[in-house]
Amino acid sequence: MKFGAHVSIRAAIHLAIDRAQAIGCECLQIFVGSPRQWREIVYSDADLDRFVEKRRAAKLDPLVAHTAYLINLGAQDMELFHKSTGALVYALRAMDRLDGLGAITHLGSRGTQSWPQALARVAAALTVALEATDRAMILMEHSVGAGGQIGGTFEELAEILDRLDHHPRLGVCLDSCHLFASGWDIRTATGVDATLRAFDRTVGLRHLRALHLNDSKTALGSKVDRHENIGEGRIGVEGFRALVHHPKLARLGAFIETPHFEEDVPDRRNLELLKRLREGRPPQRRLGSAGGVSRRKRFSSRRRG
Ligand SMILES: [Zn+2]
Ligand SMILES: [Zn+2]
Repeated sequence: MKFGAHVSIRAAIHLAIDRAQAIGCECLQIFVGSPRQWREIVYSDADLDRFVEKRRAAKLDPLVAHTAYLINLGAQDMELFHKSTGALVYALRAMDRLDGLGAITHLGSRGTQSWPQALARVAAALTVALEATDRAMILMEHSVGAGGQIGGTFEELAEILDRLDHHPRLGVCLDSCHLFASGWDIRTATGVDATLRAFDRTVGLRHLRALHLNDSKTALGSKVDRHENIGEGRIGVEGFRALVHHPKLARLGAFIETPHFEEDVPDRRNLELLKRLREGRPPQRRLGSAGGVSRRKRFSSRRRG
């Protein structure tokens, strides 16, 4: 398993490569547009070429984009539906241009629609996006399944894949925090194995193309999505040890979207901890910790999907 992080493209997209290297990334996730607005960024060819060159030299692989949080591929409102489809196409075109694996996207919410109605809309949006683009994959992110959130069960993801005839450019991203909050107990090796067996039976592990590794602030089955630093949440170190060592996950890129241990050391320690687990080294004790968890102030209110 390779470890990377969601890294900022602030100031210039190619600077994400420097930021990723500074914290020890082996793979990379970025936003290509604005995460909370329908704003597309127009990049110069020189900037994009520089990104490609620097990424090749840094050997960050795979590269994925995370789409805007506003996307709702099941929207009943036609304006929102078209904007959502457009934002997905935009992220896929960016990944085509930058030689990325694909765009990880939330599917949205069914609102007051029945599941078959929402499924039809999601399938239509995915079909449009696949036809409008060339190579990059759409990676549907499993959600916690709160309210009408789409993709909160393996069954829903399987039905979407079925509807698209298991399109080779359609895959799934599992998030450890979302799994746990939606009720899958991944705190032990046995629990991780049972979860992956269920996923394989229902969806098929061949469709699993990326992982988000985040601990959870909220309890098993809470359906509340709040990310925590690795090992500091309700999943805990043993769960991550099991995920990192599971043979069926070894081929995947795994991206953290954690709140950071310290403001000035963004994400480096989360990645270090995962690498220690992968290499069988004991996790390091936190600075300032008297045998427990550091209570250092963190800017953890920031929500990341
Ligand atoms: Zn999340
Ligand atoms: Zn997400």
